[in-house]
Amino acid sequence: VKELIQSKKHPYPDWPEGGSVPYAALCKTFELIDGTRKRLEIAAHTSKFLQQVIRLSPHELVTVVHLMLNKLAADYKGIELGIGESLIMKAISESTGRNMEKLKAMQAQIGDLGMIAYQSRNAQPTLIKMQPLTVEKIFKGLYRVATTKGDGTMALKVAEIKKLLAACQGEEAKFLVRGLEGKLRLGLAEQTVLLAVAQAAITREMETQGKTPKATDLVAAENMLKEVFSGLPSYEVIIPKMIEHGIMNLKDHCTMQPGVPLKPMLAKPAKSIGEVLDRFDNLEFTCEFKYDGERAQIHYVSSQAPDKEKLAVVTKDTKKGGGGLTAIFSRNSEDLSTKYPDILAVLNSWVSETTTSFILDCETTAVDKDTGKLLPFQTLMTRKRKDVAIEDVKIKVCVYAFDLLFLNGEALVHKSLTERREAMRIAFKEVEGEFGFARHANIDQVEEIQSFLEESVKGQCEGLMVKMLNGEASHYTPSKRSQNWLKIKKDYLAGAGDSLDLVVLGAYHGKGKRTSVYGAFLLACYNPSTEQYETICNIGTGFSDEVLAALHKQLEPLIIPKPKPFYAHSTVAKDQPDVWFEPRVVWEVLCADLTLSPRYKAAADNVADPTGKGVSLRFPRYIREREDKKPDAATTARQVAEMYRSQESVGGKGKGVDDDW
Ligand code: ATP
Repeated sequence: VKELIQSKKHPYPDWPEGGSVPYAALCKTFELIDGTRKRLEIAAHTSKFLQQVIRLSPHELVTVVHLMLNKLAADYKGIELGIGESLIMKAISESTGRNMEKLKAMQAQIGDLGMIAYQSRNAQPTLIKMQPLTVEKIFKGLYRVATTKGDGTMALKVAEIKKLLAACQGEEAKFLVRGLEGKLRLGLAEQTVLLAVAQAAITREMETQGKTPKATDLVAAENMLKEVFSGLPSYEVIIPKMIEHGIMNLKDHCTMQPGVPLKPMLAKPAKSIGEVLDRFDNLEFTCEFKYDGERAQIHYVSSQAPDKEKLAVVTKDTKKGGGGLTAIFSRNSEDLSTKYPDILAVLNSWVSETTTSFILDCETTAVDKDTGKLLPFQTLMTRKRKDVAIEDVKIKVCVYAFDLLFLNGEALVHKSLTERREAMRIAFKEVEGEFGFARHANIDQVEEIQSFLEESVKGQCEGLMVKMLNGEASHYTPSKRSQNWLKIKKDYLAGAGDSLDLVVLGAYHGKGKRTSVYGAFLLACYNPSTEQYETICNIGTGFSDEVLAALHKQLEPLIIPKPKPFYAHSTVAKDQPDVWFEPRVVWEVLCADLTLSPRYKAAADNVADPTGKGVSLRFPRYIREREDKKPDAATTARQVAEMYRSQESVGGKGKGVDDDW
C-alpha cells in the first residue's frame, strides 16, 4: 500500500490534457478498487486517479466524482438511478443480440446483471470500431435514462442504454450496468471519495509549487473539505470553487446556502430516563416534545435580502420568482416543496421583519382542522407526496420548529443550542395552528422529566428529545447520529425497543385463507460500507387483511427472478423466500428483542460472531410503511449491532431464533 500511495502515477496512461476523461480510465480504477477490500488501498487508488483527473481534466472532476458515487446530481435534485431489472435485460438483449431466454438462463446461473452484460457484449464480434466512451458521454447518457419522463418512457430508456452498451469495451459494460441498477458494489463509501478528493487536490496544488504534501497537510485538507461539505453537500458547488481558489481557501468561498439542504442531525435512542441522566450527568440539557410527523428543513431567502447576490448560486435554479427562494426538504434531502404548497403560502407571516434568510429544522405534523389537536403520523402520510394544489389540501399541517441552522446570511451551526434557540425566537413569531416552537423544558429531575414525557404522549407526541444545551457538544452536527441528542419514545417505556426501518426483499405465499396474498416477508437492514442489504427477519404479524391485499398489489410488480448479488442472506434452500423483490419499500418494524441466527446476515461483520451468525429480530411486528425513507436510509447494520450490544449488556441475550409466521 505504501508503494502504491507513494507511486506518482495511476496505471492508466495519460489522455490529452484538457480532453474528456476516458470512461475506460474510470473503469480501470473501479477494477483496482474491486480487487481489494482494504480501506487504505481503496483510498489510494481513488486518490491517484483523482490526481490524474485534476492534472489533465479538472473541468470534469465533478462528473468523475458523481460517477464514482453513482450519482447524477446532489441528492436534493432527486435524480436517481436504480433502473428495474426487466428494462436492463431488454436493453442488453437488444444491444447484444442475445435472446431473452438465453439471458434468463445466464441470470439463473450468474445472477449479476453486470457480468451478464459484460459477457454478452464481449462475445459479440466487433465489426465497426466504436469511438471510446468518455465519462462525459456516460454521464449524459445516464442522466437521460434517469430523467426521461412521459409517453414511451420505457422504449426511450431502453434505446439510450442500448446506445451506451453498444459503445462499451472490456469491463465497461459491467460497471455501466451495475451503475444503472443503482449499486456499483465496490465498497467505495462517500466518505472515502470525499477524503480522496481532498488528498488529490492538496497533492496536486503542492506539486505545482514543487512540494510534496506532508501527513499534516493531507489531514488539514481532509478536515477542510469534510467541514465545508457537511454545511453545503453539493459537489457541483464546491468542486469548481476548490479548483479555482485552492482547497485550503474553500471556507472563504463556500458556506452554507439556503437552497442546498443539509443532512439532518440525528438522535440516539435512550431506553429510560435513567440512561439520559447518566449520559448528561452534570451537563445542562433540555427536553423537547418529539412531534410525530415528517422532518422538514425549510429554506428561505427574501427577495429583499441584501446578500441575495451572494446566495445566487442556488437561487438561480430553485423555485420562486423575485430572486428570493422558498423550499422545503425532507430528511433525505428530497424536495418537498410541491407537497407543502400550503406551508410555503403562509411562511412569510411567521417571519419577523428583520429576517431575510434562514434554514429552519422542523417537524410538520397533521392537525385537526377544527380543534387544532395533533394527529398521528399515519394521517399525515395520507397526503399526496407531489404536485399538490392548495385547494385540494384536506389534511392541515402545523409546523413545529426546533432548530435554526442559518439566519440572515450567517451559519449558526457552531453556536450553542441556547443561542440558536434565542435567535429562532427573535427571527420568528408563532401563529396558532400553523407555526410554533417545539415545546421544551429545561428540567433535570426524574419526576419532572417523567411528567413532561407523559404530557407529550397525551398530546399525541412520540415522546421526548433530550439535547445538550451549551458548549461545543450542543453545536448542530449535520448528518451525525449524535450522543448529544437522545430520543425517548413512549414505546421504549412500554418495554419495546427502538423501531427499525427495514427494506422488503422477499415474500412467502400465504397459507389457509391468505393464499391469494403474501403471508410473510423477508426484511433487511442496509450496510452502507459494503452497499449490501443484509437480511434480519421474516415477518408475518401486524398486518390486517386489507393491508396484506394492498401490499400484494404494491409488491407484485417488483418481483425479480433471483436475489440481487447485493442481498446478503443464508444460502440454505429452506431459508429462501418464494419470491424476491427489487429493493424499494421500507417498513417500520418493532420487535421484542434481538438475537443471533445463522439464517440472517444483519451486522454479521459488526457483531463479529465467530460462527458468522447475523442479528435477527424476535417477534417482529409491522408498524407502518416509511414512504419518507429510501431503502438506503434504512436502519444500518452498525445501528443493528449497537442495538444488539446494548441489550446484551442488560442481559437479553441467549434466546433461540423465532420466525414469526
Ligand atoms: P432515525 O433515523 O433517527 O431512526 P426516524 O426518522 O426513524 O429517525 P425517530 O427515530 O423516530 O425518526 O426520531 C427522530 C426524528 O424525530 C427526527 O428526524 C425528527 O423528524 C423528529 N422530531 C420530532 N420532534 C423533534 C424535536 N423536537 N427535535 C428533533 N427531532 C424531532
